[in-house]
Amino acid sequence: MPCADHRSRLLRDLRISVTDRCNFRCVYCMPREAFGSDFEFLDRSMLLSYEEIRRLAAVFVGLGVRKIRLTGGEPLVRHGLPSLVRQLAALRGLEDLALTTNGALLAEQAEALCAAGLKRITVSLDSINPTTFRRLSDSKISLDTVLAGIDKAAALGLSPVKVNAVIRRGINESEVEEIARYFHGSGVTLRFIEFMDVGMTNRWVLDDVVTAREILDRVGACFPIEAIEVAEEGRVAERWRFTDGGGEFGIIASVTRPFCGGCTRMRLSPEGQLYTCLFASEGFDLRQMLRGGATDEEIRASIEALWAAREDRYSELRQNGGDSGTRVEMSRIGG
Ligand code: SAM
Ligand code: SF4
Ligand code: SF4
Repeated sequence: MPCADHRSRLLRDLRISVTDRCNFRCVYCMPREAFGSDFEFLDRSMLLSYEEIRRLAAVFVGLGVRKIRLTGGEPLVRHGLPSLVRQLAALRGLEDLALTTNGALLAEQAEALCAAGLKRITVSLDSINPTTFRRLSDSKISLDTVLAGIDKAAALGLSPVKVNAVIRRGINESEVEEIARYFHGSGVTLRFIEFMDVGMTNRWVLDDVVTAREILDRVGACFPIEAIEVAEEGRVAERWRFTDGGGEFGIIASVTRPFCGGCTRMRLSPEGQLYTCLFASEGFDLRQMLRGGATDEEIRASIEALWAAREDRYSELRQNGGDSGTRVEMSRIGG
């Protein structure tokens, strides 16, 4: 039986954040001044084990979830991730299993992930200029390492590989054309993302958002494009085709064109807190249930009740000047 919330939205997808750690310090996600060497990450004992994640995932699939995406923090820094992928890929009823990564460790892990049953991958990459890339990711890992990861994933058939680029005013907005040119005709599907006010540390201001309209104008000035009309449940990206055969790209306009009305997603944090919205301030403690001996049926009933009571529409309210107060950090619940 599908699970519906107050606004008739069905629970269809789940993001599982497997770690709060990351080998990058992207300035808009884990700025070094907030996530420095003295930052206390979750202790291993607080993380859900892969067995616990698998058990929860099976309950979610029973509730109607058809798509799971592994994320983080950086999912590839968690030891032995392919063994989790293998367990999730074997879940009957799950139609789509994907992973979002910064790509730093992708070249070395892509083969094992593929062999474990991963079908799709998204790599986050905000610049193809080596200097901007280093400044944005604030790490010693080179752009070439990430590009090699993308190539490897594509060669292994994890395709189409998607590349997500968050565009920010004065930082990389002038690189939209360069990014589009680089991936045009490559088989990679680009997704431009409006900068969002997730968490409390990234100093988001509306003026820093490069709007979907501006991004589209920049790409459209370089290539002939046309909209792709699709009616797809839970769709977040607006899709466009290069009419010269160069493939397609998308724009995720969470700020200027919110899509809360079709939001079918829950998010599970590394320590087992369940969130019904990316901008939530509080989660529901599934780890306590798991470790307190709850049955699958009890866990299922709690998730169902949480979803049924859900009224989230933060991005729609933001447009009207609303605010939910303290927001959980992106590195806890994935993008
Ligand atoms: N570390 C992995 C990665 O970077 O792909 C997975 C986790 S990361 C939190 C997931 C996605 O969230 C990335 O594509 C990242 O660019 C995006 N993201 C992080 N902070 C964001 C923000 N403030 N606005 C929009 N996207 C953001
Ligand atoms: Fe790490 Fe991803 Fe956040 Fe960058 S966006 S700091 S790679 S979790
Ligand atoms: Fe879904 Fe919340 Fe984003 Fe709206 S703001 S689309 S409810 S996650």
